[in-house]
Amino acid sequence: MKALVIYEHGGVDKLCYDEIPEPPIRDSDVLVKVEACAMNHLDVWVRKGLPHLKIEYPHVLGSDIAGVVERTGRDVRGIEKGMRVLVSPGVTCGVCEHCLAGRDDLCRDYKILGENIPGGCAEYVAVPKENILPMPEGLTSEEGAAIPLVYLTAWHMVVVRGGIKPGETVLVHAAGSGVGSAAIQIAKLYHAIVIATAGTNKKVERAKTELGADHGINYKTHDFSKEIRAITGKRGVDLIIDHTGEVNWQGNIRSLTMGGRLVICGATSGHEGMTDLRHVFFRRLSILGSTMGSKADLREALKHVSTGRLKPVVSKVLGMSEAAEGHRLLEERDVFGKIVLIPD
Ligand SMILES: [Zn+2]
Repeated sequence: MKALVIYEHGGVDKLCYDEIPEPPIRDSDVLVKVEACAMNHLDVWVRKGLPHLKIEYPHVLGSDIAGVVERTGRDVRGIEKGMRVLVSPGVTCGVCEHCLAGRDDLCRDYKILGENIPGGCAEYVAVPKENILPMPEGLTSEEGAAIPLVYLTAWHMVVVRGGIKPGETVLVHAAGSGVGSAAIQIAKLYHAIVIATAGTNKKVERAKTELGADHGINYKTHDFSKEIRAITGKRGVDLIIDHTGEVNWQGNIRSLTMGGRLVICGATSGHEGMTDLRHVFFRRLSILGSTMGSKADLREALKHVSTGRLKPVVSKVLGMSEAAEGHRLLEERDVFGKIVLIPD
């Protein structure tokens, strides 16, 4: 089969659209014929190499899979050939205390399709049956692929870690990113007042008109923490959703109201955040880490996709052989929503 693979870490020139063997399936696996696979910043990290990442080559990229069931293992019930499906990107042991408690995101054996194990940028991918979800009605495969990883991550950040309450004021950074565009919509489900930041006026406008943000700030032209003070009448926000890290860290700490929560799931701008600890204890702030989410989080989010309240945001669709272009666009942040790859 054709697959988007790397044989070593490096630049976009290391991406190869090559012929590799079709993956074998175990008795508890489902073989999915891939129709679309969305990109995440994770694809860029995996291509470049991560300190503790050990993978087998050729390594197939891609974590966000939509497709059709091709074949099922002997122990699989209730999933039939021809079903349109989405794939939950986190593969876990299924038997540890965290998995059994429904917090499989805390499993010590947590693996992500396309990161630690072969991903979905291929004609076929074999995944455990637990990772199969029915495709919500009315979505194309490209739209479906734009959902799993970012909605899982954003749901866990906003709802589970952030503990959002109706009517709170929420700051979401990088509205044009996958997680940002999902977090704005989830916060609006809770009738929050959402302030979104983005790097261009056009993205700020789209965050308001297309995603429902109440206020927008161009972080390139304005100091966002000053703008937050003005918008909230010096009160600050209850909850901040961030994956940018270092560049916004001190502004984030300044922008939280008494008892505010900052949830961070990444550090794309750098990972050294300086914190004046006096703010943390005087204002009773909570700084909360988050990575991915549980399979149940994704199921919760999908209910609202089915009713049309949460929408996938597709920025661009490219062939898998054009993945280098997708990597460049992601690295240059020249996107609003998800880049989706389809088999050529
Ligand atoms: Zn486990």
